Amino acid sequence: MGPRGPRSETEAPLSDNATRYATIRKNSASFAVPPNLVDYHTACSAFSWDRARKDLSGLPSGGLNIAYEAVDRHARGPRARRVALRCIGKAGERRDYTYGELAAFTNRFANVLQSMGVKAGDSVFVLLGRVPELYVAMLGALKAKCVVSPLFSAFGPEPIATRMEIGEARVLITTEALYRRKVEALRGRLPKLDCVILVDADEYGERTRSWRKLTRAASDAFETPATHPQEAALLHFTSGTTGRPKGVIHVHEAVVTHYATGLYALDLHDNDRFWCTADPGWVTGTSYGVIAPLTHGVTNIVVEAEFDAPTWYGLLAQEKISVWYTAPTAIRIMMKLGASAVKNYDLSALRFAASVGEPLNAEAVVWGMEAFGLPFHDNWWQTEAGGIMIANFASMDVKPGSMGRPLPGIEASIVRRKADGGVETVAAGEEGELALKTGWPSMMRGYLHEEARKKCFADGWYLTGDLARCDEDGYFWFVGRADDVIKSSGHLIGPFEVESALMEHPAVAEAAVIGKPDPIAGEIVKAFVALKLGFEADEAIRKELLGHARKRLGAAVAPKEIEFRANLPKTRSGKIMRRLLKARELGLPEGDLSTLESDER
Ligand code: ATP
Ligand code: MG
Repeated sequence: MGPRGPRSETEAPLSDNATRYATIRKNSASFAVPPNLVDYHTACSAFSWDRARKDLSGLPSGGLNIAYEAVDRHARGPRARRVALRCIGKAGERRDYTYGELAAFTNRFANVLQSMGVKAGDSVFVLLGRVPELYVAMLGALKAKCVVSPLFSAFGPEPIATRMEIGEARVLITTEALYRRKVEALRGRLPKLDCVILVDADEYGERTRSWRKLTRAASDAFETPATHPQEAALLHFTSGTTGRPKGVIHVHEAVVTHYATGLYALDLHDNDRFWCTADPGWVTGTSYGVIAPLTHGVTNIVVEAEFDAPTWYGLLAQEKISVWYTAPTAIRIMMKLGASAVKNYDLSALRFAASVGEPLNAEAVVWGMEAFGLPFHDNWWQTEAGGIMIANFASMDVKPGSMGRPLPGIEASIVRRKADGGVETVAAGEEGELALKTGWPSMMRGYLHEEARKKCFADGWYLTGDLARCDEDGYFWFVGRADDVIKSSGHLIGPFEVESALMEHPAVAEAAVIGKPDPIAGEIVKAFVALKLGFEADEAIRKELLGHARKRLGAAVAPKEIEFRANLPKTRSGKIMRRLLKARELGLPEGDLSTLESDER
């Protein structure tokens, strides 16, 4: 049976030069269930963060705690026996945890931490694959009011030690193998690390304890102490795409954004089966792989295995996923394999698909229609924002290639920095820096130990470091990261536009564009291209691509050079590292590579 989803009509192409794809129109026949956000303007004017807070329960002991909203409030109500987490192991084995069970397990772990003398505000690091203990440890530590920092388990020893040093880790939860391979040798550098808890081993020594033994001995009753909404809850490190990863602090109040964006941007409904493919080592995997779905009381599907397209299609079908949140890198790989590979699966339960993390090329949005019967709904945010800020909502017409419109409660604008340190907004349609009016609940409370980087706040705005523009309908279009923008013969060129034009060519699987210094033009546009299977990287295709780009973009913007690569260097969170391509091209130092995917080293 083929995929079924909202049927959407297309109409004549937009005049907008960022895309030659037609707007994907939605109408009332488009939805399997009525969307949570029906009319954008009505929802925005009715919205206030104070009202959004009322959708949450609040702690009986006072204040607001992420873990209480995610787990206990459901465990104490009619959802107690609903599956909260379905964890699917690498061999396909499933383990289910109801909200009631998750409350008991997280209570035990909160008791373990308290019995070890761990205090509110202490840092608890988690270095685990996507196994049940990861979720129990994070939520249990939040109940004990610790600051939780999940690390990506594929990191090497150095990035792990550096992050734990910056975050002053007091407790680490990990596996025996990860501990032996990645932590033990560097433990001397971590004097604050009192205790390592191994989820799969017996204890060896006073400071390396056994999860099983500790949790078995602990009570499964725990009352989360009063938590001020402004108390620190999470420490996340950015992806390191543009430089050294930054440690970002979020507070318990962030859960208000997680809930509201789960409602509007992911359109979560009570009976959904939700799958966020990101690892909790990145902010998406925590905000939307743990917190948002649980605050909505839905069933959250957790998949331990790494990406593999047929396995993913099988899981979407088998688990009857209804809402799927994934990333452009995965979508581009699926595109490489072709839409026909999807047709053997019954994906009739899937009603909403969203993407985040990198610019989503218009080509990929439209391919979603072909393969899944649904467009991928792009949304934009960053570690510092804590939650989705700009999105294509379920009810909204999708302009392929646009990031969508700001969430209710979020004021976004395009600004220019002034010499006096302030900012001014630019005219409609002009490019500038994407800025967000400060004050939403999941806004970062600062970078850890990096006071100087606070320069991103000015005149009541948070400056994102991304360049974008806003069209006459209020849709935002990504141009590029401020650091990646190319200045060629007086033109400012956003890499995304060039990469998207290259992606439209049937031979291109991935493209990354950099500015290469040039004595005459200042910089010229150079593209690195990975071809789809079955295409040969030769002179003929190079010429064809150069010609295609010139036709689409004009000579001033089109790349002058194209270099073919089997793969492009990416962060472990799947973002193309243009800064590394540039450093290598220019023979400059490669900088912090702690988040680079290892096969690219
Ligand atoms: P670092 O700040 O360390 O260089 P990073 O910015 O990649 O790394 P993240 O916070 O994980 O770290 O990523 C956020 C960034 O990813 C955004 O600022 C933006 O540049 C990019 N991004 C995320 N979603 C989108 C999107 N939908 N469209 C375009 N770009 C996006
Ligand atoms: Mg960033």
